[in-house]
Amino acid sequence: MTISTAMVIGAGQMGGGIAQVMAQAGRKVYLNDVDQTFIDKRIAFIDSLLTKDISKGRITEDDKAKALANLIPTTSLDPAAECDLVVEAIVENMDVKAKVFSQLDELCPPATILASNTSSLPITEIAAHTKRPDKVIGMHFMNPVPVMKLVEMIRGIATSDETTATVRQEAIDLGKTPVEVRDVPGFISNRLLMIMINEAVYSLYEGVATVEDIDTVMKLGMNHPMGPLTLADFIGLDTCLAIMEIMHEGYGDSKYRPCPLLRQYVKAGWLGKKSGRGFYTYA
Ligand code: NAD
Repeated sequence: MTISTAMVIGAGQMGGGIAQVMAQAGRKVYLNDVDQTFIDKRIAFIDSLLTKDISKGRITEDDKAKALANLIPTTSLDPAAECDLVVEAIVENMDVKAKVFSQLDELCPPATILASNTSSLPITEIAAHTKRPDKVIGMHFMNPVPVMKLVEMIRGIATSDETTATVRQEAIDLGKTPVEVRDVPGFISNRLLMIMINEAVYSLYEGVATVEDIDTVMKLGMNHPMGPLTLADFIGLDTCLAIMEIMHEGYGDSKYRPCPLLRQYVKAGWLGKKSGRGFYTYA
């Protein structure tokens, strides 16, 4: 099966990026969110990214026009009925995702693949809210999607070989490198990354070093392109907390307990770059 029409649900930083790469690869993409203003804002942002790509000589005016023409905003899930693939990228919460997957299952023809961009939630459990668990898969893109090459593919217990093969090919066609990972909390990427971020927050909480110095250690000492606290701000501190909580519950191991300072920042509404303040402040 090849993918020609898709829907991306959630026009946040991840959904916007996924919709952009799909539109640039020639897919007709419905971009869905609960509020039209969120979609308009995201499409304006994609427009600005494509303009930057033109100025750097990476794409032409014509490429940009074609990509934007492929993006169709919608606040309704109904167009999912004409899609080969739906990628969900909404809030990291099982109840909210489960509701969307069960609605999609009612709307979509039997062949439609339903993928989740979840960072940590069990694909098997998401799939159980549909009558097509063989067609449900994790398609975990990295942030920022247009730049980052990896896609973690997570197979639920019932995900079929055919679904996995289609999604693998789609990831390759989008210019990404897919890897296959078993359905465990946090998969590989966040199981490793979030422990580091959480320990960086603990180091700050315990007064071991300043925000800037913690980040400098990892940048200059380990050659990471950005420090863990900057990265946490980019990911969103609410998302980081949700992932830690899911791994803490899923593994039942205290090494995944979220740092109290991370909880406090989220309670304060300091969610990182997207809210203007996290470990750093943003204009
Ligand atoms: P975000 O907060 O930037 O965007 C989420 C969007 O989903 C918002 O625009 C919100 O209005 C919309 N939304 C919420 N409920 C909805 C619904 N029922 N229907 C339609 N739209 C709805 O979040 P994000 O950072 O883009 O994360 C989205 C998903 O991607 C999460 O599952 C997250 O764990 C995962 N993810 C995030 C990152 C990251 O670096 N932020 C990386 C990989 C995966």
